Amino acid sequence: MLGGMQDFELRVSTLIDHAAREHPTREIVTRWADGSETRSDWRTLSHDAKRLAQALERLGVQRGERVATLAMNHGHHLAAWYATIGMGAVIHTINPRLFDDQLVYIANHAEDRVLLYDRVFQPIVDRLRTRWTSIDHYVVMDDDGPDGVAALIAPEDGDYDWVTGSEREACMLCYTSGTTGHPKGVLYDHRSILLHALLVASPAVLGLSSAAVLLPVVPLFHAAAWGTPFAAPLAGAKLVFSAVNDAKVLCDLMNREGVTISSGVPTVWLAMFAHIDATGEAPRALRMATIGGSAAPRAMIARLIDMGVEVKHLWGMTETSPVATAAAPPPDWQSWPRERQLDLLTRQGSVPYGVELVVRDDDGTPLPRDGTSAGRLHIRGPWVIKRYFRAEADAIDADGWFDTGDVAVIHPDGTMQITDRSKDVIKSGGEWISSVELENAAIGCPGVAEAAAIGIPHPKWDERPLLVVVRKPGSDVTARAILDHLAGVVARWWLPDGIEFVDTLPHTATGKLLKTALREQFRDYRFA
Ligand code: ADP
Repeated sequence: MLGGMQDFELRVSTLIDHAAREHPTREIVTRWADGSETRSDWRTLSHDAKRLAQALERLGVQRGERVATLAMNHGHHLAAWYATIGMGAVIHTINPRLFDDQLVYIANHAEDRVLLYDRVFQPIVDRLRTRWTSIDHYVVMDDDGPDGVAALIAPEDGDYDWVTGSEREACMLCYTSGTTGHPKGVLYDHRSILLHALLVASPAVLGLSSAAVLLPVVPLFHAAAWGTPFAAPLAGAKLVFSAVNDAKVLCDLMNREGVTISSGVPTVWLAMFAHIDATGEAPRALRMATIGGSAAPRAMIARLIDMGVEVKHLWGMTETSPVATAAAPPPDWQSWPRERQLDLLTRQGSVPYGVELVVRDDDGTPLPRDGTSAGRLHIRGPWVIKRYFRAEADAIDADGWFDTGDVAVIHPDGTMQITDRSKDVIKSGGEWISSVELENAAIGCPGVAEAAAIGIPHPKWDERPLLVVVRKPGSDVTARAILDHLAGVVARWWLPDGIEFVDTLPHTATGKLLKTALREQFRDYRFA
């Protein structure tokens, strides 16, 4: 028997409609690279998006086709999302930090029809235009000139009804930067984005209301800025964007606009600390910092807490929309000893309603939630990938589980802790050594700026760890000193069999260690 309630498709355009109707004057502020500012609001953004939707239709964009952006964080970029999604097309956010061959591959693979870009990326467009085979229209978003978006929407009146249809229709495409092989496209639908936005706005993650002032430092082109651009209109929150990521600019902007919540990868907060140390200025209204993308270091969490800022450690990936776990301290957490508080917050958090986690060994057997059994982390849920864009087969097993490629433990209280990525774990004598833990331990040694641990083939143990270290400027820290330091913090059999010093380590476009390149560099390495 069917229920008696209304059919109501969970379409993304209902978010912007709601914000325009119920929170019309809550602002969307953009601070541009040249220091100028644009102030808009949800009503105006919705109107601009409708005019752009009309213009995209005029250009011939069809339902389901892809419209790409190559842009920093600003209000015009957000309007482009709502315009494209609202007219039934798919917004494809391209990460401008990718390498040329990847940029060519993904735009052609996505068959993007239109590219909306920032003037600062003109060199990329000039370089790759002839290699992009499907893009018919190039539009500059932050320019009043004849090829700019202002000119494009000038003839349009905004008298437009968003297209309606199934909530299962595709609406957004994000490629994972991929440390091996070609980038892979994750194709979100209206429903997955809506459900994820409800999660992000809820107290489990940001706890947004119309009183919140949100500044996502995480780029709109990286995993949809962790869903913040969808959660903000849902709650009627004020949104603040900066087109540049300089700590001074961000701190000034946060203070001017009264920013209460901000989201960024750990390096964003490190830069903010350096700014605070140098100037004594700090974001005064900030009450919550969300950190994800890579593990939030303990010292970072401690310092933010000391600043009176609640730390939300998040874990997820492009394939999971991306938020999948979030810190959720228990009610008596405030009374815990400080070290125990930090132990909890350095973990990646608990699963909210909607997603399920399991860790499995290499044979696929589920492991107990005992805080020590490390295995491959699997996830399933309504905002988790089923199949990559244009892939021949599903990316999940028969029971719907997606193998994240991360290695983790789950503690008895349900909190999850990432210990490594499965391809980076060092397999020694049938046991696993966490490269991440080894690196973090090494970074704790004075004089070490950055460290990477990789497995080197070993005749007896299968693999043994090699630690590759970048010294801090002016430091002459020795291998001996690093080993002595490590001996105090990791198990004896984890100690690296070799330590090599380099000037720099290779990184991916999103700033993570590129272990594949490092393994290639040390392919012929043998321990002395
Ligand atoms: P990529 O950077 O490979 O394109 P994503 O941006 O989707 O992919 O990053 C997802 C990966 O980032 C996760 O699989 C995990 O390895 C890592 N990650 C994300 N958040 C955290 C966290 N809080 N702690 C540790 N690792 C994290």
